[in-house]
Amino acid sequence: MQLNDKTALITGAAGGIGRAIAERYAREGARVAVADLDLAAAEATVEGIRHAGGQAIALAMDVTEEAAVEAGVAAVVERWGGLDIAIANAGIQHIAPLHSLTFADWRRVMAVHLDGAFLVTGAALRQMYRQEKGGSLIYMGSVHSKLASPLKAPYVAAKHGLLGLCRTVAKEGAAHRVRANVICPGFVRTPLVDRQIPEQAEALGMTEEAVVRDVMLKDTVDGEFTTLDDIAEVALHLAAFPTAALTGQSVVASHGWFMQ
Ligand code: NAD
Repeated sequence: MQLNDKTALITGAAGGIGRAIAERYAREGARVAVADLDLAAAEATVEGIRHAGGQAIALAMDVTEEAAVEAGVAAVVERWGGLDIAIANAGIQHIAPLHSLTFADWRRVMAVHLDGAFLVTGAALRQMYRQEKGGSLIYMGSVHSKLASPLKAPYVAAKHGLLGLCRTVAKEGAAHRVRANVICPGFVRTPLVDRQIPEQAEALGMTEEAVVRDVMLKDTVDGEFTTLDDIAEVALHLAAFPTAALTGQSVVASHGWFMQ
């Protein structure tokens, strides 16, 4: 059990990658707060974790709302007495070329990824600094933290921005033994990706099969999707790592799509 006695808050954990990490962390002994816009889905995730013998609570949280993020961290601390790991994972996508992208859609995507990560960072750091026992922040970046694809401008810009936020947290947090790292997954079959396939097919005038083969997985070494388990494994490694040898870094897990 690599996370015994650790408390973790994971945003966007009602489904997809966040849920996979929540389940994995709980199996490793962590107490997990499953925070999401969708409270019913978060409760279902918590139910599954408890059924498997783990400890979890569900939190209704819009990561773009400062009061909701502050209240979520406070609820975790009230319930379990502290916070050791925070993962800014909530995310959305919007497919459109820049010349027709509206300012409202740009702002919506940026807000969930960057404002959300900032708010989680501030609330988590204040708690971790008070506790004086260190901590680990993890940001869910993307291969799109490293390179661009057409039709995804706000997502690409936000995911690049997370690298800067993470590196700053690594520098400021070091004195308090708080580490910060970014996970950069390749394409993982989640609802977020499933929604994009028909949207990209239409925007690019391709079949859905061609989008998967010739766009999404084109630059992998083996034409394979990254899995939920792959990303949960990386998230476990980053959270459990014992020293600040691993801070300010970004780990690309993508079947070789973008090699740094
Ligand atoms: P998903 O759509 O399956 O899950 C995202 C979750 O975030 C949902 O439960 C949703 O309700 C929640 N959410 C959305 N807006 C929110 C908000 N304002 N406040 C709180 N919760 C909110 O997506 P996923 O694929 O699991 O993505 C999770 C993260 O991984 C995202 O940051 C995404 O950009 C990143 N990512 C995904 C992939 C992929 O291929 N799936 C690749 C690279 C990075």
